[in-house]
Amino acid sequence: MATEVSKTNDKRPPESTSSVDQQAKDIHVEGQQLGRDERIPKPEQVDESAILWSYVIPVLLFHAVIPLAFFGYFFSWWGVAFLFVGNYIFTSIGIGAGYHRLLTHKGFNCPKWFEYTLATLGVCSFQDSPARWVLVHRIHHQHSDHQPDPHTPRVSGFWAHMGWLFVDNKATSTASAYDRYVKDLMRDKYYMWLQRGQKWILVYVLHALAFIPLGMIAGLFTGEMVRTTVQFFFWGVVMRTVFTWHVTWAINSAAHMWGYRNYETREDSRNNWLFAILTNGEGWHNNHHADPRSARHGHRWWEVDVTYLTLASLQKIGLISDLATPNNAALDRKALD
Ligand SMILES: [Zn+2]
Ligand SMILES: [Zn+2]
Repeated sequence: MATEVSKTNDKRPPESTSSVDQQAKDIHVEGQQLGRDERIPKPEQVDESAILWSYVIPVLLFHAVIPLAFFGYFFSWWGVAFLFVGNYIFTSIGIGAGYHRLLTHKGFNCPKWFEYTLATLGVCSFQDSPARWVLVHRIHHQHSDHQPDPHTPRVSGFWAHMGWLFVDNKATSTASAYDRYVKDLMRDKYYMWLQRGQKWILVYVLHALAFIPLGMIAGLFTGEMVRTTVQFFFWGVVMRTVFTWHVTWAINSAAHMWGYRNYETREDSRNNWLFAILTNGEGWHNNHHADPRSARHGHRWWEVDVTYLTLASLQKIGLISDLATPNNAALDRKALD
């Protein structure tokens, strides 16, 4: 049985009748709620012998150098502070607002140049191309916490957090999967360019290299050119990427295991305050599953959603429009208290 997620909202962008737009705008939720502790196998099309080294190697290398952070030469309080600044710029704005609320769920409208800016910031978080990220996430919404879900903790917490990234899952990698789930993005020249030959990785590398001249300029002021440049690269790229990987991955793992629920939904999504803070709003994940198109994930007054507040400010100055807000009539029917 398939049930449609709510289509109507007073402040939603006008509905399109094209089938491409429907891919994003009407994600069908499939399957019934499973028993509380029921485990499920990995998705059928996972091939555990097909290791994706393009993920395994960077993830291993980046984690391997973390201990350097505890050596005086590398340590920097400015670097630690930049984890949060970089997390906001590249991951909350790039992934949260760009990949997720805009490209996956079409939660607002904006000029193409701004859409590409958000998507490019997302690319700089090293969380795959826009098309593949959106593809995986649309399947996640369709089959949340059921076997086809690419990353449910009902398989295991490790699988949901990062294990799923390391092996091929044909359901998320074939041409027919791209056609079925992200036709809208594959018709776009920029997203197609990033996708072909994995050029999104090149963009990530170029942005990483840009931290070197920035560090050298800063080195003119600190008087320690080499050390400042090393620290810029280490904290600005490596540590920031690892930090933002884990806070984003935690939405797939922790926010489907731990936290409270405002709404009855047919998966295990939770509002997890810790990761809601660390992701600037994405952790209000039960709210998000209850109303995926809403670009506002924090529903209660104290559920602070910095990404939404940013988008609301951008709407005020006229840069974006049609920001989708919670569909209160539909949400009331799912409310748990
Ligand atoms: Zn989820
Ligand atoms: Zn979503």
